[in-house]
Amino acid sequence: MKISEIHIHTHDMPVKNGPYTIASSTVWSLQTTLVRIVADNGLTGWGETCPVGPTYAPSHALGAVAALSQIAPGLIGANPLQPLLLRRRMDGQLCGHNYAKAALDIAAHDLMGKHYGVRVADLLGGVASERVPSYYATGIGEPDEIARIAAEKVAEGFPRLQIKIGNRPVETDIETVRKVWERIGGKGVRLAIDGNRSLPARDVLRLSRECPDIPFVMEQPCNTLEEIVSIRNRVHHGIYLDENGEDLSTVIRAAGQGLCDGFGMKVTRIGGLQAMTAFRDICEARALPHTCDDAWGGDIIAAACTHIGATVQPRLNEGVWIAQPYIEGNYDEENGIRITGGHIDLPKGPGLGITPDDSLFGPAVASFS
Ligand SMILES: [Mg+2]
Repeated sequence: MKISEIHIHTHDMPVKNGPYTIASSTVWSLQTTLVRIVADNGLTGWGETCPVGPTYAPSHALGAVAALSQIAPGLIGANPLQPLLLRRRMDGQLCGHNYAKAALDIAAHDLMGKHYGVRVADLLGGVASERVPSYYATGIGEPDEIARIAAEKVAEGFPRLQIKIGNRPVETDIETVRKVWERIGGKGVRLAIDGNRSLPARDVLRLSRECPDIPFVMEQPCNTLEEIVSIRNRVHHGIYLDENGEDLSTVIRAAGQGLCDGFGMKVTRIGGLQAMTAFRDICEARALPHTCDDAWGGDIIAAACTHIGATVQPRLNEGVWIAQPYIEGNYDEENGIRITGGHIDLPKGPGLGITPDDSLFGPAVASFS
């Protein structure tokens, strides 16, 4: 089998009840980038990548289209059933830009699943959970409002919450965390506090010291791995890396040197599902809990995250975050990915199990054959 066509589409997704506010950005609408691979036997596979604005990470929507346009011509004629060789071929077309390569990797996995008549999760090693835990991420907000949302989401069934903090006086962040815990403590819910790189080490130390009784983990509190290392042994709480987990090499270093207690991981940041399975296995070898997320995106990226999340050893599974609660509608009204009771059902169909209504996306912005 050979790849005969690659099409790139873009699609705007307004944030429902927006904006969505994290320390590094405030977003009202996101442009997602979709790729459709067509094989010479007519089979198609879909991929997607959607940075949550241009300042969350070194990735942006215009960059995704440019990088995919650079890579795509070199993949025409390649075998989509060989994701490892496909990755090497993509690396031969463009240095870096994992977030764009991931869309092609996801599309190849979708196509491969359809070809073999199995789900992507089966290709990735096998399904450990048919119903995958999710977690709810609050934006940054007033302490009482965030505590109200936290209680609401626990009542809906979320087994884990993530509270966004940063870019304001640490006293307000501490008040937020304490008020959240007053509402949800004792309900068996796991809690992560996500600084999205924004906190000075001084504030991280204070947050940890003033909340010794609250069993949260701190996700990516500081900007650099060096800052993380500096606070690592001076805090009471577990430290997870998210944005600093830039590639497998960084993950190997962090896991090998014990620089963190777990990861938030983005499928597109690390380069797609092929790299994500290696990441999952490294974490399992060192008993490091982790998420399987992406920064933003519609049904395709949500399905990719759910399929890899379904393969994670349940005791290490910190959940699959998807943007669906913040997005109106689905690409596939029948099989679209939705959170119910704080969990996501793994799609039943082959490949990603999603058939997008491509009339939503309009004509391709670039096509290669
Ligand atoms: Mg995070």
